[in-house]
Amino acid sequence: MTERARRVQPFHVMRLLGRARELEAQGRSIVHLEIGEPDFPTPEPIVEAGRAALAAGQTHYTGAAGLPSLRQAIAGYYGQRYRLDLAPGRVLVTPGASGALQLVFSTLLEAGDRVVLGDPSYPCYRQVLSLMGCECVAVPLTPETGYRLTSEQVRAAWVPGIKAVVVASPANPTGAVMGLDELVALHDLCRSKGAALIVDEIYQGLTYDVPDETALALGDRDLYVINSFSKYFGMTGWRLGWVAGPEDAIEVMERLAQNLFIAANTPAQHAALAAFGADTMAILEARRQRFRERRDRLFPALAALGFQLSQPPSGAFYLYAGLPAGLGMDAMALATRLLEEAGVAVTPGQDFGDYGATEHVRFAYTRDVQELDEAVRRIADDLARLR
Ligand code: PMP
Repeated sequence: MTERARRVQPFHVMRLLGRARELEAQGRSIVHLEIGEPDFPTPEPIVEAGRAALAAGQTHYTGAAGLPSLRQAIAGYYGQRYRLDLAPGRVLVTPGASGALQLVFSTLLEAGDRVVLGDPSYPCYRQVLSLMGCECVAVPLTPETGYRLTSEQVRAAWVPGIKAVVVASPANPTGAVMGLDELVALHDLCRSKGAALIVDEIYQGLTYDVPDETALALGDRDLYVINSFSKYFGMTGWRLGWVAGPEDAIEVMERLAQNLFIAANTPAQHAALAAFGADTMAILEARRQRFRERRDRLFPALAALGFQLSQPPSGAFYLYAGLPAGLGMDAMALATRLLEEAGVAVTPGQDFGDYGATEHVRFAYTRDVQELDEAVRRIADDLARLR
């Protein structure tokens, strides 16, 4: 076994989820606030299009770049929603944002190259980069900047060998949303240094109180925007995403995709053609409002319990909370205790990096408000026992 494969870490949350399932099998009730996927089912128009595709025998390979009609539909979505003129040739359909990340990293980076990441951030970035022999330059993200990665921070952290900066907006685990002006500043910095900006927009559409924007507005040079049908569109298990980038890089990624996974899932691609229709969009907008209500319910309730939260995050479905003072335990211990004693599953900060990780937990508000209320009651009781 290779050393670089051995280095890849499992997610702590998966161990907790496994334990939660064990407890449930014993008859315990668990409120799941650890899972990073919408509780809502895939919208019916998408499911129906998937069913129709299967019935029509759409079960063969597509081209590696994806169905031309889907590439067109994705480009059309940017036109309609963001007033952006995006050529379908700049879009490549992938097996989830995960597939897109692999393609972009493999296209841009050599072993030994350095990549800037915020800390905390989505764990797969650093695991996949490490697998590729790249080195991560972690920039601590703090409440002072709303957990946003600023160009000043990146400039100050710059070292030779950096070939890319990765940023998610909205972000996992913090829900932070970057403004277009901040993305422009990061992009300008990257370009001045001969590096690329990679923006993971997998939570796009799930924003509250801020403009709905896309980094693609920044142009087509040294910019890679990753997206997915997983979160906003409620299609995690269909394994479908996309990347938009410079056309010459998309051609290279098409060859890589052929060799790495041939193509994305065919029935899923047909289903996704129904994702941008007015009926689906109406369902998704109603869900977005539900997520907002949940955020507005959970945020003050956790703050009242002493969890350290500065302001409600503007996107995704996560609250990244500092542990209440004086608990005398770290995030992993608290997550384990809340699961075992209170029947509430959360994700310890250790899954997302090193900086402040032991003092934070992530709550995913992917449950309805009644369940959130129940979780808060249980946590309150348990903390009272602790204190
Ligand atoms: N990026 C981020 C920030 C994520 O949170 C996730 C999934 N949790 C992914 C990428 C990968 O998602 P998928 O492959 O399902 O599109």
